[in-house]
Amino acid sequence: MERGNISVSTENIFPIIKKSLYSDQEIFLRELVSNAVDAIQKLKYLSGRGEYEGELGELKVEVSVDKDAKQIKVSDNGIGMTEEEVKKYLNQVAFSGAEEFLKKFKDVKDLSEIIGKFGLGFYSAFMVADTVTVVTRSYREDAKAVKWTCNGTTEYTLEEGERHSRGTDVILHVSEDAAEFLEEARIRNILEKYCRFLPVPIFFKEEQINNPNPIWKKPPAELKDEDYKTFFRELYPFDEEPLFWIHLNVDYPFNLTGILYFPKIRQDIDPRKNQIQLYSRQVFITDEVTEIVPEYLMLLKGVIDSPDIPLNVSRSYLQSDSNVRKISSYITRKVADKLSEIFKEDRKAFEQKWDDISVFVKYGMLTDDKFYERAVKFCLLKTTEGEFFTIDEYREKVAENQTDKDKKVVFLYATDKKSQDMYIRSARGRGYEVLYLDGIIDSHFIGLMERKLENTRWVRVDSDTLDNLIPKGEDDKKEEKAEILLTDEQLSKIKEAFVSVLPNKSMQVQTASLGEDEMPVVITRPEFMRRMKDMAALGGGNAFMGEMPDSINVVVNTKHPLVRSIVDSKNNTQLAKQLLDLALLSQNMLEGKDLTDFIHRSVEMIGNNKTKTTARKTRKSAPKSKTKTAKASTAEAKTAAPKEKE
Ligand code: ADP
Repeated sequence: MERGNISVSTENIFPIIKKSLYSDQEIFLRELVSNAVDAIQKLKYLSGRGEYEGELGELKVEVSVDKDAKQIKVSDNGIGMTEEEVKKYLNQVAFSGAEEFLKKFKDVKDLSEIIGKFGLGFYSAFMVADTVTVVTRSYREDAKAVKWTCNGTTEYTLEEGERHSRGTDVILHVSEDAAEFLEEARIRNILEKYCRFLPVPIFFKEEQINNPNPIWKKPPAELKDEDYKTFFRELYPFDEEPLFWIHLNVDYPFNLTGILYFPKIRQDIDPRKNQIQLYSRQVFITDEVTEIVPEYLMLLKGVIDSPDIPLNVSRSYLQSDSNVRKISSYITRKVADKLSEIFKEDRKAFEQKWDDISVFVKYGMLTDDKFYERAVKFCLLKTTEGEFFTIDEYREKVAENQTDKDKKVVFLYATDKKSQDMYIRSARGRGYEVLYLDGIIDSHFIGLMERKLENTRWVRVDSDTLDNLIPKGEDDKKEEKAEILLTDEQLSKIKEAFVSVLPNKSMQVQTASLGEDEMPVVITRPEFMRRMKDMAALGGGNAFMGEMPDSINVVVNTKHPLVRSIVDSKNNTQLAKQLLDLALLSQNMLEGKDLTDFIHRSVEMIGNNKTKTTARKTRKSAPKSKTKTAKASTAEAKTAAPKEKE
């Protein structure tokens, strides 16, 4: 037996690493199985070149756990190692790798940030084992089996081993504090996570746990839609079917394969991260791909496999890595290509999918200039009537009718069909096309479009009166002004009547000549203030704004006969109140006591009205009833009501 010292200068390297890697202990298995897979791939390679002429047999890796003996074993029938190779690779390479690792990262505070991605290799076995034994036999004809043991210090022993066939067994004598790894369920779990698509069959408890030929490695021409869908189900068994997918396949200037799926993205976007899995040569590395994939692509699902993404560097470094940047822009281009292809080739299908992909497209446009350039051509705007326009198409369509006096094309939009119904109808009544932008991301999207598109303005249908939404030239205005016959005094009387009945101070009364067919009172929410509030609510911008009450304008339509009647009436506040409450009610803004009072008042008014009509009717048929009291006639009105229907 030979005893020796591993050439590592730092004596206490083991405990340090062991401790700092605690959070990512489980990767030891990934590393050992990957080594085993490599050993088999190497053998295949040698065999392919005729350098190994023996039988390959059933090439596989086997993982087993012996809870009683406190051992985990990883066996392969790959190339194995000679005594010289053990000395060279295990004593020098493996450990110098660890030493280098420590040197490189001695300043890094949070090692776990890097470690999940860093191939610590064989060395990581010591994260869970007190002692590691390797029994190996090289594929070479005259090779003898060797047994190497190391107990977690820098000392090792090397002796003749017992192994009748080519390959390597790595046996971990699991330490007390890593006992969790002696549970079969835990091991299965780790294998399924990291080794699911390794290219060589991996067995655990006589069961193959991996799919060695995942479809992303196959040529796209060989694959059918169903293959992609099946693979998606394999990855995300509980998800709805994906909308479409992109097969990434590039060799130069970097190697990258993978499949990205567009899932159905819900409008109430929850940017769940960790949906794309990153592999390197089919070994699962991580599902935190933030630095590799542009942020908006995080909404996609699927796998990316590239040996060219550096794994042994810190995250901040990743972003500046030129390969990573190239990869990221390649993916962006592919995604834009795909969307543009569907848009051009099957506009109907694209429109049907729009609700599901709009969040994604808009998010991309907001965060990635390159993507914006492409997407602005196929980004759709949906109207309240369910029609779709591209941005250019909309602009062209409304240019004539919706250009304001400053020559800006007004993009009119609504965010809620229910509460804004009245405004939408009025706007449509004027022949305006109202866009429907009800997604959480839309307020940001609108801001972006205003910055990008020259001479446009985006306003919500309820932000002002129709005339002011798209103010026309002075000529148009004069005409309307000519119709206003009210004196200043009359106007202020109307205004005062409404001011006196305002339920709260944040509302402001304005008068405007809206037309006889419009409502007597209209509630509007100024665009600017509302946007500030929306932004604050989304966490962007001034948090203080979120606390502010809504800024609300009460626009009194001076053209409406009921409003005009206020000028002459004595008890004008009650009418003003009723008209204001109706407007508030239409906006779901009437509540509490105000609402109760309104209901009572309305019932009373209907009653009075009824009394009058009933009185009129009765007068005709039976003049005597004049003498009846109001109360009695109300009672009569009630019983008379069904009769009236006949
Ligand atoms: P890396 O795999 O990055 O080279 P490791 O520390 O994991 O580093 O392994 C060091 C070397 O030990 C490998 O390069 C390989 O030559 C050898 N080795 C490790 N495991 C095996 C194995 N199961 N069969 C054959 N050789 C192995």
